[in-house]
Amino acid sequence: MPQETNISGKTDRKKRGKKGAGNMDEIAKTIFAPIYPVIAKNVLDRFGITGGVCIDIGSGPASLAIAIARQSDLRVIALDNSAEMQETAARNIADAGLAGRIELLCGDVHAIPLPDDSADLIISRGSMFFWDEIRTAFREIYRVLRPGGKTCIGGGFGNKELFASVSATMIKKYPEWEMKNKKRMSPENIDRFRTMLEEIGVPEYEIISGDGCFWIVLAKTTPGALAYGA
Ligand code: SAM
Repeated sequence: MPQETNISGKTDRKKRGKKGAGNMDEIAKTIFAPIYPVIAKNVLDRFGITGGVCIDIGSGPASLAIAIARQSDLRVIALDNSAEMQETAARNIADAGLAGRIELLCGDVHAIPLPDDSADLIISRGSMFFWDEIRTAFREIYRVLRPGGKTCIGGGFGNKELFASVSATMIKKYPEWEMKNKKRMSPENIDRFRTMLEEIGVPEYEIISGDGCFWIVLAKTTPGALAYGA
């Protein structure tokens, strides 16, 4: 696909932003629609965190944030650095009747505009593969996580069956998606994230992978941020 550039860069970036938000919204409401309630249930069942504050990082059209709010008493913060995605998310949240439960926050994972130790649960699906500096991003995620809280950051489709059906449809519609997704879920990419977590000194983490998913679970026992090391 040709790059859209002009002298100011402004108009085309805006066009791309609106188009990207529209595409993601369409996929989230069609092909991906069945995965969000299943992912939300998996996360809530696994961690047993059903109240407090949940941040969905790179929330896009807010499908996962909406599924989490519907299945729990968590107050959800839908964080995304794209204003266009947030406009789409605002419409979806209002249509779901959840405007009082889900707060939109335009911000970057590399500088999360929230205080230390403020989130009980941090989720993120399909976003970390786009982050420029994963060390900075994961330091920020660790900083805002409350002691006793958990994260579920990565990508996945809910279960083996959903992964199979969603992949089949995606590959038929977007053949290049197969290779892209394989790369994201590859052992080499998982190792890259594992090395990063070791380098920044995260004291406790788990990586869940297989059946088309790759999730990073961080736990935190002491308040505050990681010491600034490697
Ligand atoms: N999580 C949603 C889902 O699964 O339907 C959306 C996934 S979409 C593929 C990736 C999202 O991550 C986009 O909405 C994008 O704007 C957001 N994103 C990318 N880089 C980001 C960053 N540095 N900080 C915050 N959000 C980011």
